[in-house]
Amino acid sequence: MDELKRLRKILGTSHAVIFYWKALEDWPVEFVSDSIEQFGYQADDFLSGRITYSQIIHPDDLSQVSSEVELFTANHIDEFCQIYRILDSKGKTCWIDDRTVIERDASGQPQHYLGTIVDITEQKKNEAWSDLLSRVINESTDEFYIFDAESLKFDYLNQAALLNLGYSSGEIANLTPLDIKPNLSKELFLQRLTELKEQPCVILKTEHQRKDGSLYPVEVKIQSIDVLGETKYAAVVRDMSELYALQEEQQKKFEFVQNVIDGIAESVMVINQDYTVELMNEAARKSSTDSVIANIRQPKCYEVSHNRSTPCDGLEHPCPLKAVLQSKEQASVIHNHGSQENPEYVELMAKPLIDAKGEVYAIVESAHDITSLIQTQNALIHKTTQLNYQATHDELTGLVNRQVFQDRLEHALQQAKRQQKLVVVVFVDLDKFKQINDGLGHQAGDEVLTEVASRLQGLLRSCDTVARMGGDEFTLVLEDLHDLQSAERVLQKVQEVFAEPISTSCGDVLITLSLGAAVYPNDAITPSELVRLADLALYDVKFKGRNGHRFYHQLKALTYL
Ligand code: GH3
Ligand code: MG
Repeated sequence: MDELKRLRKILGTSHAVIFYWKALEDWPVEFVSDSIEQFGYQADDFLSGRITYSQIIHPDDLSQVSSEVELFTANHIDEFCQIYRILDSKGKTCWIDDRTVIERDASGQPQHYLGTIVDITEQKKNEAWSDLLSRVINESTDEFYIFDAESLKFDYLNQAALLNLGYSSGEIANLTPLDIKPNLSKELFLQRLTELKEQPCVILKTEHQRKDGSLYPVEVKIQSIDVLGETKYAAVVRDMSELYALQEEQQKKFEFVQNVIDGIAESVMVINQDYTVELMNEAARKSSTDSVIANIRQPKCYEVSHNRSTPCDGLEHPCPLKAVLQSKEQASVIHNHGSQENPEYVELMAKPLIDAKGEVYAIVESAHDITSLIQTQNALIHKTTQLNYQATHDELTGLVNRQVFQDRLEHALQQAKRQQKLVVVVFVDLDKFKQINDGLGHQAGDEVLTEVASRLQGLLRSCDTVARMGGDEFTLVLEDLHDLQSAERVLQKVQEVFAEPISTSCGDVLITLSLGAAVYPNDAITPSELVRLADLALYDVKFKGRNGHRFYHQLKALTYL
């Protein structure tokens, strides 16, 4: 009895559960050790007959377990091992390792089974994980290598590695990493491996050689691992062929773009939102002086193009980037990079580069020297103004000419019609002007004409018009008049102002004028008719002795009309 107790005590410390089954259907239990409690059962649950052993076997495994036992029994295999699942008292699945011995009677009939079951659930899980990881590594497109730290011989290469190198797993077993790294010496390789004593991994950039002799660029990350006391090196190898080819292609594209923009005579820059220059052409590079550039690797656009250390601003140098970032549309500004005396006009055109989300990710800025364009434009404006002036003014006196007189008269009549006012057209002709030319010379005649123009202009209001029609003939358009008396006063004053002699380079000259006037709307309402009638009035003055003025309506004798 004491011995049995001791035995139970020993069994209680073991993880194994001891069973003693009757060799009957459902395997009733005659003995079970207390360690059955690890599965949530009590020994008594079985001993009392409440639960048979077959009831705790996983339903999916029961028929397999039974048929195996039958097979072992029939074939007199009296010691066997089975791996299957049971359910614990809460229904949770547990994997077990069952080792059973068959006890037979004298006639060879099985009477009992004596066995131990051990919970191997954790072990099974580990195996499953390990299988999964092996599969992941083996099927990975990256190359994995494991080689021995002492002999350097390969222990393992995954499928991707074998496929790329062109070796079978048998062939590789006799090789070391040095056999596939023709460009790496053994000394250097070993030296790099010693770095693993100090750091968790070593990265090598080299080339691997395939069985057929071809090379491919690789990046190798090596780590040291301890496998049951033995040091192994695990390497993850990336075939860089595609990446390098892609980089090379990108570099070629970049060089192509650079060559294209270098071919542009104007300065071109691709600028990021923070003003750093992503790309610039030869012309832009030539225009910059490195002294202002704070970081030569990341020059700012204002450093390159303006030799300044802050972004462009103000009316003289507005920043085109700000406008583009705000509007997301092309913008252009004009800078004067020269002085007031010697201007250098530069037009900066900025165009946004927009990504798929509609955001501006960079700006292309080109600078265009438009100095000569602006100078030509200014010369053209000047010339046009000059021609315009010449077409509308008399060169000698600076008065408006016959053309402008016509326009002003038409305009004055329209306005007078609206405002119901008078307009007086006056023809003025110098008396015996030929004599001045003949006596004092053409030059003196010119000086007299200029002075006449000046006195006439000084006399009239700004709303009135004084024009030179040609020769010694002038016209006046008097506007904004309420009555004829005002007009009469103007004509008198015109005559009075010439009571003073005109001084010329050839001496003083006293002149008289003859004036003829016609009134809108009293005499006529069209410009041509008013001109004709004023001319008639003038003719009348000349005819009757000159040095006087006359309104058309004052004409007495009209026999010459
Ligand atoms: P009348 O009293 O009849 O007007 O006599 P007049 O001598 O003034 O004769 P008329 O008005 O017909 O002659 C004008 C002269 O003015 C004729 C021409 O030689 C002269 N003349 C025309 N244009 C100019 C000019 O630009 N400068 C000068 N100095 N003389 C001019
Ligand atoms: Mg005259």
